[in-house]
Amino acid sequence: MLVWGVSLFKLRTPQKGATSMEFQDKVLTCIDCGSTFLFTAGEQLFFHDKQFKNEPKRCKACKSKRVSTFAAPASANEHRFQRVETRAICSQCGKETTVPFRPTQGRPVLCRQCFSQRKTAATA
Ligand SMILES: [Zn+2]
Ligand SMILES: [Zn+2]
Repeated sequence: MLVWGVSLFKLRTPQKGATSMEFQDKVLTCIDCGSTFLFTAGEQLFFHDKQFKNEPKRCKACKSKRVSTFAAPASANEHRFQRVETRAICSQCGKETTVPFRPTQGRPVLCRQCFSQRKTAATA
């Protein structure tokens, strides 16, 4: 029977009084970390109030990260300064690591640990 689905659907009616407009919680995808986050009806109302045209693009965690990163007076060329953090697998120990550059195809990527190990081994 499909009765259950129907009754559950009916339960999802918006709360009375909270919002006069037809705002409903929305699930958005963060452009930074790719995870989904909730754009609540209250926030949408706030955005509408402020006449913001764009929906938030980042989750709260990434937003606060950004704020702290650009707490120092940032110039207009902030967009050009974009750190590339690429996920890679260390070719020596197989651990996942991030490198501040785009690894070249075919070239082995080493995590910090293996990199320093190799360095000391080479000099020894
Ligand atoms: Zn995020
Ligand atoms: Zn390693």
